[in-house]
Amino acid sequence: MFKLLVSRFKALIHNYAFGGLSGDDFSEQSRRILLINLFCLVGILVTLPLGIDAFIKNDMLVAIATLSIASLYTFNHLYLRLTYNYEVSSNIVLYPLFLLMFFLIYTGGVEQTGFLWIYCVPPVAMFLHGLRRGLIEVCGFSLVLVTLFLFPNEVGATYNWPTELKQRIVYSFLVLIFLSAFYEYSRMMSIRLLKNLSHDLEKASKTDPLTNLLNRRGMLEIIQEHDSKEQFFDNAIVICDVDFFKKVNDKYGHNIGDTVLVKLSKEFKETWGKDAHISRWGGEEFLIFIPSSLFDIIQPEVERFRRRIEATRFGNLDNPFYITLSFGIARFDYQKETIDDAINRADRYLYDAKNNGRNCVFSD
Ligand code: GH3
Ligand code: MG
Ligand code: MG
Repeated sequence: MFKLLVSRFKALIHNYAFGGLSGDDFSEQSRRILLINLFCLVGILVTLPLGIDAFIKNDMLVAIATLSIASLYTFNHLYLRLTYNYEVSSNIVLYPLFLLMFFLIYTGGVEQTGFLWIYCVPPVAMFLHGLRRGLIEVCGFSLVLVTLFLFPNEVGATYNWPTELKQRIVYSFLVLIFLSAFYEYSRMMSIRLLKNLSHDLEKASKTDPLTNLLNRRGMLEIIQEHDSKEQFFDNAIVICDVDFFKKVNDKYGHNIGDTVLVKLSKEFKETWGKDAHISRWGGEEFLIFIPSSLFDIIQPEVERFRRRIEATRFGNLDNPFYITLSFGIARFDYQKETIDDAINRADRYLYDAKNNGRNCVFSD
């Protein structure tokens, strides 16, 4: 029973705090939404009882002011929930907060304690609007603050603080601006670092480290994501396998075998780099995805490449050698078959090429 109550309460808080969030990741946007909602909640919890109390005591000015703020924050939460527009919602939190702080400074607040609240301005502004905009807004706020302190009579301010206290308020406020800016800056840097790191990891997970080509995972993703709907021409899947590669390793060593794969990758890129996606499909096997092309010109193109490689010298100057390649090509129509089916067909053609004595191209 108690557990059920706790979990219901947790769900309620979660539902309130993340109301207005379109996705469910804990991103920069979701943290801002969380802060806006919590700020609204605290605002309502503070101003609503004060407003009701003032209303009962017939203090209409305070009642109207506090109940207006409670209504504004309630409206803001509902607005965020309905529109997901946290940019506008953050302004509804921040700018009334600025006005309230000016009012507290201007009047001195209850028992002259009004200045104590201004310290929430820098962290909230920078968190909601980021370092640049937050800092500009806080500097604007500080200018008004200093004006109120320097020219109280001219603006008719009614606070009652000695010059030393005003100086300390400004100094400590400046220190807080500096610390908040520094904190926001390091937070931004950490986020940037994490983003770069996750981008690099994502890239590494789709790249073959030896040849820098796509790996199997990266290639499958590209074929899956390729938009075939408005396509006019054919897509082709070309699978290429180095003939008797084991012998290269056995005769010249694994390292030389590696240099063959690297050089071959460069040749692939030179020939198809602009028009196609090239991957190291596994071991000494490559898969090339040629999207939106005239199928009839692909086979002669592959044939030309095969002949070029046949005549290319591999290995080093002391130990030059030649290799040959076998190919299987399948025409791939997204509407008619699955990716696996097309790849399997290209594989079968490759198998035919191997059985046909290698160093040749088989195709649909
Ligand atoms: P086939 O013409 O039938 O394809 O003969 P093959 O020798 O090329 O084929 P097999 O499958 O028997 O051997 C493939 C060889 O490729 C065995 C393996 O050592 C080598 N190989 C796979 N990955 C790498 C690699 O990253 N570097 C090197 N150097 N060799 C590799
Ligand atoms: Mg082979
Ligand atoms: Mg093989």
